[in-house]
Amino acid sequence: MVEITDSLKILVVDDERDIREGIERILKRMDYTVFKASQGDEALEILKNETVDLAILDLKMPGMDGMELHQRIRDIDENIIVIIITGYATIETAIEAMKQGAYDFIPKPFEPEHLRIVVRRAHEKLRLKREAEALQAERARTLIDLDMEKSRIRTILESLPTAVVVTNTSGEVVLMNPAFLKSLDLDDSGLDNSGLDNSGRAAKKLASYVADAGFCEMVLKLSKGELDANEEVPSYELTVSGTKYLMARGQPVINENNECMGAVVTFANITSLKMLDQLKSEFVAKVSHELRSPLSTIHEQLALVLKETSVNETDVDQHLIERAKEKTHGLISLIGDLLDLSRIEAGGISHNIQSIQIADLLKSIVDFLGIRAQSKKQSLSFELASEQLPLFTADPMALESIFGNLIANAINYSPKGAEIKVKAALAEKFIKVQVIDNGFGIAPKYHDQIFERFYRVKDDNTRYITGTGLGLPIVKGLVDSMNGTISLDSAVGKGTTFTVLLPV
Ligand code: ATP
Ligand code: MG
Repeated sequence: MVEITDSLKILVVDDERDIREGIERILKRMDYTVFKASQGDEALEILKNETVDLAILDLKMPGMDGMELHQRIRDIDENIIVIIITGYATIETAIEAMKQGAYDFIPKPFEPEHLRIVVRRAHEKLRLKREAEALQAERARTLIDLDMEKSRIRTILESLPTAVVVTNTSGEVVLMNPAFLKSLDLDDSGLDNSGLDNSGRAAKKLASYVADAGFCEMVLKLSKGELDANEEVPSYELTVSGTKYLMARGQPVINENNECMGAVVTFANITSLKMLDQLKSEFVAKVSHELRSPLSTIHEQLALVLKETSVNETDVDQHLIERAKEKTHGLISLIGDLLDLSRIEAGGISHNIQSIQIADLLKSIVDFLGIRAQSKKQSLSFELASEQLPLFTADPMALESIFGNLIANAINYSPKGAEIKVKAALAEKFIKVQVIDNGFGIAPKYHDQIFERFYRVKDDNTRYITGTGLGLPIVKGLVDSMNGTISLDSAVGKGTTFTVLLPV
């Protein structure tokens, strides 16, 4: 780095001793270091051991004259600033010297002030020059640093085992790593070092890498910054060549001005998890299936035993058999739930698609469950809000399962004497069914969890109510498979309303 010093080293060359020493005095008072020489050879000798910043030369000297010395000095170090001192007669030579690169000249005789001004100016020029050089060096270093930083980030990105792709605000791919192409079973030979497509710098649409419209739409939405700040990071499950499952998670790229610059998406391979899940479902389905018939047989046999029990058998036996029968009933319904679930997961629920009058179907479920409500002194009513509902194509078993579960829950999780209403109406392109109770209600923190398998809210009201926590996951699975939605509105102690929207 160039040092910017405040003091200068100045070489004064003049054959007249008075002038030499006069100049030395003036310069020393200005805090400069001064070397003196009475002729050219002496000056060059000094320059062998010293680096000076400034040389003040007399033009007319015996031996080597100022012009020649100037030339020799420039050959040694062209950064030395040269000032020429000259008598009037040689002013033309002085001009010549300036043309050859001398910085300034001072005609003899001169006032001390004149010398000071010229030297100060030279000093200032030197300072500016050195400052510019320092800045230049600084800039070059910053650029090198930047370049190193860039290539380091690039290297990290390329060695990252996680697949990463970055899009701009138009949803076009601007950056990706080899893991991304590998995850998607794409060839990476068309990539240059920057991870950019080298078929020209033009960014390609994401769709040319990932043939999944839903995924591309999600990323485009993210890239344009159309994601609500409160919404959680979207994830998307996609399949590659039918056998590989990837979980993509995206995040908008926000700059310091809070503007969206695009999106960054990472992919995780979840194939093994999927396989495991599938194995588990298959296992559950198999076990449930194997258990169902023997259990049903036991159930029937217990019913038979109960009917045939003669009077001389004790009440205790009767009671025990009654309990056993209830338990087997519970087990049979659990197995029914498990089978439903595995069928939903296998995607094979809609076997028996028919045209259905949904109002009739709801009425019959209400009638059927009315008996259970009555035993708890609850009122259960059905209300058709629209004149008439259009015919609906669906699997009636699925609809029965959806609304049967919701109404059974309303009965189960409401106290004696509660009021339960089932309302159906046409709402634009949807059939809207609501199951409304004024029962125990569900605290907001459980509103998502109750749709998870085996999740049950445990509080003083529900502790003694039996169930397995599979009802709502089944309902949700079925509603989803019909492209519908389910939502709830509930407050503890006030009651719960489940709303199901099914597209007509
Ligand atoms: P099952 O599998 O026999 O239906 P379950 O009724 O416990 O068992 P879900 O139907 O999935 O399972 O319901 C989950 C939980 O949600 C219930 O345990 C209950 O705590 C709560 N819940 C569901 N519906 C209501 C409701 N209408 N009012 C209050 N709580 C409810
Ligand atoms: Mg239930």
